[in-house]
Amino acid sequence: MIKHSVYKEEIEGATILYQGLPDLRRLYVEVTNRCNAGCIMCVRRTWNEAEGYLTYDLFQALIEEVPCFPLLKWLYFGGFGEPLLHPRLLDMIRCARKKGLKIKISSNGQYLSAIAQDLVQLGVEEIIVSCDSASEKSFKAIRGGSLGQLEEGIRALNRAKKKYESIHPRLVLEFVAMKCNVNELKNLPGLASRWGAFALLVTNVMPYSADTMGEILYTYPAASKIPKAHGLMPGNYVDIASIVWEAAAKKWFTWGTIKLPRMVWGAARNCRFVNSYSAVVTWDGEVVPCYPLSHSYSCFVFGRRKEVKRYSFGNLKASSLYSLWTSEEYVRFRGKVRLFRFPSCVDCELAYTCDYPVENCDCWGNEPSCADCLWAQDIIQCP
Ligand code: SF4
Ligand code: SF4
Ligand code: SF4
Repeated sequence: MIKHSVYKEEIEGATILYQGLPDLRRLYVEVTNRCNAGCIMCVRRTWNEAEGYLTYDLFQALIEEVPCFPLLKWLYFGGFGEPLLHPRLLDMIRCARKKGLKIKISSNGQYLSAIAQDLVQLGVEEIIVSCDSASEKSFKAIRGGSLGQLEEGIRALNRAKKKYESIHPRLVLEFVAMKCNVNELKNLPGLASRWGAFALLVTNVMPYSADTMGEILYTYPAASKIPKAHGLMPGNYVDIASIVWEAAAKKWFTWGTIKLPRMVWGAARNCRFVNSYSAVVTWDGEVVPCYPLSHSYSCFVFGRRKEVKRYSFGNLKASSLYSLWTSEEYVRFRGKVRLFRFPSCVDCELAYTCDYPVENCDCWGNEPSCADCLWAQDIIQCP
């Protein structure tokens, strides 16, 4: 019988036992942090990180570990970069499929035409493509790419699905809602219908620069102590749900699914990464808990600048995923996030005078802190 480590913690008189089980279910792999696009809201515009590709050898070693995780079923190619740029992406998919993993890919879709047929033949489950506008002009202004080229790729995908009589990969359209493109949102269900998309995912923008801070559509509760000087108005948010549902009712909603973001900071907090038993592997082999903590960067949460530092449990060049996932530090971190033992800085009387959140730590001694994570609020959503 395999023995697993157990870690103990005393909280307010109660004893909590955390088990180091191999219960990983979903793996996000960032095969590169390079990208062919230049989106106005991308974190890559503001960081000073080296760029590169995950080596095929490291990926193969990772996939060799799949049998150690009996519940691991999904592999998502995504992260902060364009996976279709990796010269060995198809070999990686083949390798993962041989171990029985189901595959999802997040892509800007600009190079989709070239590999559409391979994705169908390899049995990729889902492809999520970014589409933040239904007009060529604003698509180019936001992403630096071409809507026409994306459409060409989607048509190639649909032709290949027809040829091989496959419903996979299912197509998902992802829209990052901002002030500059919210008027385009009503056109998305029409596009989804025309392109045969299976789902729409709408997310808010994470501002990584002062410019994009002015693009947010979400807000915070009226009781919050956020100073008016930040130009944000409590309770004043754009009703994305009405825009999307009204358009979907005319075009699409009989068969598509729609996932919308939350628009107001609230009490409920739920980490979709930790609670879905996910881990993220970055292009340079670091094992991190989620996208927000996968790199070091600056960002703005309700007008306050934050410096986020990458939070890694170790590198696959030195340790196995199994040893990192079951390590005391990672097991304790997941336990803390599941119970969400973090204060809520956005609701705090000292918000904007306290320095802890600026360094992404908090007054309860957490470093890093999830105290004002917009992902745990579902304000920002990932596939
Ligand atoms: S496609 Fe993604 S990674 Fe590439 S520039 Fe746009 S947001 Fe950044
Ligand atoms: S770290 Fe603590 S004191 Fe500071 S803003 Fe957050 S909740 Fe308030
Ligand atoms: S709450 Fe946010 S920062 Fe914390 S682990 Fe989850 S996604 Fe990452």
